[in-house]
Order: sequence, then C-alpha cells, then structure tokens
Amino acid sequence: MPDRSFLDWPFLDDRHRAHAERLEAWCAKNLPVGHGHTTEEVDAACRRLVAMLGEGGWLMPTAVDPADPRPLDVRTLCLTRETLARHDGLADFAFAMQGLGTGAISLFGTDEHKEWLTQTRRGAAISAFALSEPRSGSDVANMEMTAARDGGGYVLTGEKTWISNGGIADLYCVFARTGEAPGAKGISCFLVPADTPGLSVAERLEVIAPHPLARLSFDGVRVPASAMIGRPGEGFRIAMSVLDVFRSTVGAAALGFARRALDETVARVRDRQLFGAPLFDLQMVQGHVAEMALDVDASALLVYRAAWTKDSGAARVTREAAMAKLHATDRAQEVIDRAVQLHGGDGVRRGHIVESLYREIRALRIYEGASDVQKVVIARQLMGGGS
Ligand SMILES: Cc1cc2nc3c(=O)[nH]c(=O)nc-3n(C[C@H](O)[C@H](O)[C@H](O)COP(=O)(O)OP(=O)(O)OC[C@H]3O[C@@H](n4cnc5c(N)ncnc54)[C@H](O)[C@@H]3O)c2cc1C
Repeated sequence: MPDRSFLDWPFLDDRHRAHAERLEAWCAKNLPVGHGHTTEEVDAACRRLVAMLGEGGWLMPTAVDPADPRPLDVRTLCLTRETLARHDGLADFAFAMQGLGTGAISLFGTDEHKEWLTQTRRGAAISAFALSEPRSGSDVANMEMTAARDGGGYVLTGEKTWISNGGIADLYCVFARTGEAPGAKGISCFLVPADTPGLSVAERLEVIAPHPLARLSFDGVRVPASAMIGRPGEGFRIAMSVLDVFRSTVGAAALGFARRALDETVARVRDRQLFGAPLFDLQMVQGHVAEMALDVDASALLVYRAAWTKDSGAARVTREAAMAKLHATDRAQEVIDRAVQLHGGDGVRRGHIVESLYREIRALRIYEGASDVQKVVIARQLMGGGS
C-alpha cells in the first residue's frame, strides 16, 4: 500500500486531501493511457489525455478562472502532478503544460487573453510556453528572437526550441526581444495562436521519454499590440514569475516518479526469493530501501514547504522552489536508479515500469532551470543577490 501519511501534514488543508483522494480513484480507473512511441502516437495520446483530464475537471486548477480570478493554488498543482506522475508520466506532462503554457496569462493577462483560459481549463485548447532558443537555454536573457514594432502591432522573427506541446498546441506564450534595453530588460511576452501565418514547426524532437516537443520557426509572424502580455520589456520578469509558481511542481512530478519507484521496489523485494528467503531479508537491501524512503520524504517536505509558502501569500518563493526542484529531481534520479538495481534484469527490460521511470526522470533535471542553475539561484538568494 503506497504511503499516504504525507497527506496529513500541516502544509495541506482538508480540501487538498479530498482532491488527492478523488484524483487517486480517477487515476486508478483511467491511467495509464497506452500508446506507441512514434510522434503521431504520442501526439494522439497527449491530445486524448488533455481531453480526458478536461472532462474530469482536473485541468481547472492549471489556470485562474476568468469569472472568479483567485490566485493559483500551488499545493493543488503539486498534489495533482505527484499523483498523475505516479500513474502515468504523459498524463503528468499533459496536465503540467496546460499550466506552464498559460501561466503568463493567469498572472499578467488581460480579460481578452483570459478568454483562452476558459478553453484550456476544459481541455478544449492545448497551450505551450516558448522561451528557449537554440543559443539560449540556461542563458535565457541572451535570447535572439525579435518582436519588431510594425504599425499597430509586432512582427516576430526567429526560432524557439525544445517547446513542449510544440506541434499540437493551439496557443503559445512566446518571449521575444523588443529592445527597450539590452539583456533581460528588453524582452516582452506575446500570446500567439498556433494558426498565425508565419508560425510553423521546423522540426519535431524525439527524447528518451517521448512527449510532444518541437523546434518552431517564426518567419515574420504578425500579431496585434493587444497580443502582448504585460508591458513592453517585462517579459523576463513574467517568465521568472511563471517559473516561480511552476518550478516546485516539477519537484512534485519527480516526487511522484520516486514514490512509484519506491512502491514497486517494496513489492518486489518482498516477493522475490533469493538464497531461500525474501530479498528484503538482506540488510544491504534494507539499507537501499531506507535511503529511498528518506529521499522521498525529504523531497516531499521541500516540495510542500515551497507550495505552502507560495499559497500563504509570499510574493516570490525563489529559494524554496529552487531547493524543492533541485532536491526532488536529483534524489528521484537516485531513488529510481536503486529501484532499477533491485529489480535486477527486469529493471532494464523495455516496457517495465522502473525502466520507464528511469527514462522519465532524466529531463526534469534539465528543464525549467538545470540542477546547476538551481544551485546558483539558491546561493545568490543566500547572499541577498536575488535570482
Ligand atoms: C524534455 C524537455 C522539455 C522542455 N520544454 C521546454 C518548454 O516547454 N519551453 C521552453 O522554453 N523550454 C523547454 N525546454 C528547454 C529547457 O528549459 C532547456 O533545455 C534548459 O534551460 C537548458 O538549456 P540548454 O538545453 O540550452 O542547455 P545549456 O544552456 O547549454 O546548458 C547545458 C548545461 O550547462 C550547465 N549550466 C548551464 N548554466 C549553468 C550555470 N549558470 N552554472 C553552472 N552550470 C550551468 C547545466 O548542467 C546545463 O544542463 C525543454 C527541455 C527539455 C529537455
């Protein structure tokens, strides 16, 4: 039986506990969604998952309600990601991207922008967050894509890469250089519908844990001035504010993968007979399992601490979110590696759950700020230098 004791922690309210129980029952009935590994099969599975999650009402917390705009509840986002990740990595991805892709609209959008949220919260439209470029991933303030003022609007020219949901999204939140100042202070954010002329998929990217991903080309993409989210030159601040909310949820997804690996391992070492006794009887195996459980609990404490701090009204949770993401993703990698080890040959067998967890976890230590970048962020916060 999976450990559910964390639900009693004081970081969570009764409504979170009720949400987790309902979602757990839904996941047990509906997940995982089986799919092949081709781009078309993964796209179809992702579309299906967005529709299913939308029908179930599970996408509502991903964005503010335009009719009743209360702040995003980060604990609900984290609990949902943790639970979905435990059942199906692609389901977690489908949920997470509806939030990340619309985060700028939830936090800084006009009423006109927010009309999209009615659709994304129902699963009727798919969203994406387009920040990274071929020459600026970690060094995002150095981005090259331009948005040039042209009459009553802007013309976007350049490339974005590693864009999750690229190819299946209906709308993109795109960051481009408007030139108010050099570096971070000369970037703005735009809402660009996928069918805008000049926007195309230049390349579909395949990764070790398949999900929709693309390099996008913007060849003179014309948008009205009203497409800008926030004010000119505020794009970098907007991107960082969005990541401030969603970074702890990456930790939550890692936590879900790690919990699944631990659960699978506990079952395996109980059942597997070696040297005339259950594998669990070996003390060195007990040591591994204990360290896995310790990593899981420590990650959970950091994730829900960050989420609770944000929900309690903190303007920024840069340090807490960076710690949660760094620790939960790095330790989940270690937990899953131990799970693979304790499963022996089955652990590396294609299609085995721990084999897929081993592939799922890796990218989480790279995107939304690589582990090394999180260390820099934490150190700067400690020195009082901001992020
Ligand atoms: C599966 C996946 C999904 C993604 N989804 C999206 C998305 O939806 N939208 C989007 O905009 N981007 C997305 N990304 C891009 C992601 O955010 C970048 O890959 C990430 O920021 C790293 O940038 P890079 O790949 O250019 O690596 P680089 O910037 O070249 O960095 C390479 C490595 O250098 C090290 N490093 C970098 N900076 C520092 C530093 N300051 N100190 C010490 N070491 C450092 C780190 O180890 C880092 O991994 C995704 C990436 C992946 C892999």
